[in-house]
Amino acid sequence: MPELPEVETIRRTLAPLVTGIKILSMEILSPRAAAPSVASLIAGQTIVALARHGKYLFLDLTRHRLAVHLRMTGKLLVGAPSSHPRAIIHTSGPDIVFDDIRQFGSITCLGKDDLPPNLGPDLLSISPTDFVSALARHSGAIKPVLLNQAIFAGLGNIYADEALFRARIHPRARLAHLSRTRLRALHARTGELLIEAIGCGGSSISDYVDASGSRGTFQLRHQVYARAGHPCPVCSTPIRRIVVAQRGTHFCPRCQRP
Ligand SMILES: [Zn+2]
Repeated sequence: MPELPEVETIRRTLAPLVTGIKILSMEILSPRAAAPSVASLIAGQTIVALARHGKYLFLDLTRHRLAVHLRMTGKLLVGAPSSHPRAIIHTSGPDIVFDDIRQFGSITCLGKDDLPPNLGPDLLSISPTDFVSALARHSGAIKPVLLNQAIFAGLGNIYADEALFRARIHPRARLAHLSRTRLRALHARTGELLIEAIGCGGSSISDYVDASGSRGTFQLRHQVYARAGHPCPVCSTPIRRIVVAQRGTHFCPRCQRP
């Protein structure tokens, strides 16, 4: 948390507020938020555009790219209340506040158009063919592969469970046993899921809010995630929770047979 739909929502809400404004200075309030060199590199540059890859948000500047990784509880806020500010970017317009209670998030400075290392293709833009070929290079259970950001960038625990439910695939299903047809269906259902979630402004499970402080509503449409014991929306069998790759995993034992 936040995953691809939440980061894309932040990008969309932040873009109209900060595109075209100039960075005057950056105040780093916690050393875990950013290295001191980031502040000196970005001062004086203009925010040209906002981009996203997987769960990374990028502020594309005149000469560099500011990569924001929100991890567990990071937020980028403009004009919204901040309880745990870790860095403040002062601009010719409004301040941009990086708020992060648990401090796993970070801001780094990259070369223009560079991507952070070890990041697979973005799940919202990958073609069905590339998706299936990437999966064909891996073995083992499907869910850990979906969570591995070096293979595909964007999914976390919530959307991996929801995508597998929509594709009727058991989270422990072995890749070797899944046909190309089923993997293409997983690609299609995942894309639909992400687009629907972005349309709802993402899922606000714990404290996620967008750049203006608004909560998402997609958590109201979750079909399996955190719904153990509740009836499956398709067949009414109680949703089960198991642990796959150390992550709590939710699925319907009838719709998603092993
Ligand atoms: Zn079911």
